[in-house]
Amino acid sequence: MSYDVLKNAINSHNNIVFLSGIGFTRELGIPYYTDADEAYDVEKNYRYSPEDLFSSGFYSTRPELFYRYYRERILHLDKQPNEAYYALVRLEQSGKLKAIVTRSIYGMHRLAGNHNVIELYGNIHRNKCIRCGAEHTAAYIKESRGIPKCMYCQGAIRPEVSFYGDMIDNGRITAAAEAISHADMLIVGGTHLEAYLCERFLQYFHGDELALINTEKNYSDRKATITIYDTVSNVLPLVIP
Ligand SMILES: [Zn+2]
Repeated sequence: MSYDVLKNAINSHNNIVFLSGIGFTRELGIPYYTDADEAYDVEKNYRYSPEDLFSSGFYSTRPELFYRYYRERILHLDKQPNEAYYALVRLEQSGKLKAIVTRSIYGMHRLAGNHNVIELYGNIHRNKCIRCGAEHTAAYIKESRGIPKCMYCQGAIRPEVSFYGDMIDNGRITAAAEAISHADMLIVGGTHLEAYLCERFLQYFHGDELALINTEKNYSDRKATITIYDTVSNVLPLVIP
């Protein structure tokens, strides 16, 4: 399908919500933690699966190993947003984009400059001392040794991210459902329509245009009114110049 169809649809809608899938961070070279190659490598190096390591159970009972894994495999602090992210910043600045909903914990949309981002699973850049509440940067966690301690009171610091199997914060789910229910256009990028992110929220969408940008085909693609098979970094800068 021609990219102009998507560009024109964006131009003719004024209440757009964007569902940002894992394609966004994969295109930056950040593997999803349960991707096959990543999972294999993790099992080889840590003798546990990513699902085991990135869990509340591990965080509570084996914090040293949890933090070794977290620093080495999750905290990709050298990565920066690319043109796909900046296109969404322009779309928000134009007033058309009302919210971005994402499962990503890397905080890249905020780093790029978007403001209304609903991070369902939290953000690695928020780390709070469970004793005094002081905030610490992800760099502080990355550079610490063993179990990171609060720089003021030596209390434990909890990254404000949901671990594997955790419940998602209800307030965030409500905020996402609310934004989507008011949208006249929904754009899904970097994932397919059966992925958790969509499966959970598509039911709230009552607009007339559902656009999909994804590299791989899926049987659920037919639900979309506009479908483009390409990377978000190729498509978004072209349709949001
Ligand atoms: Zn503290």
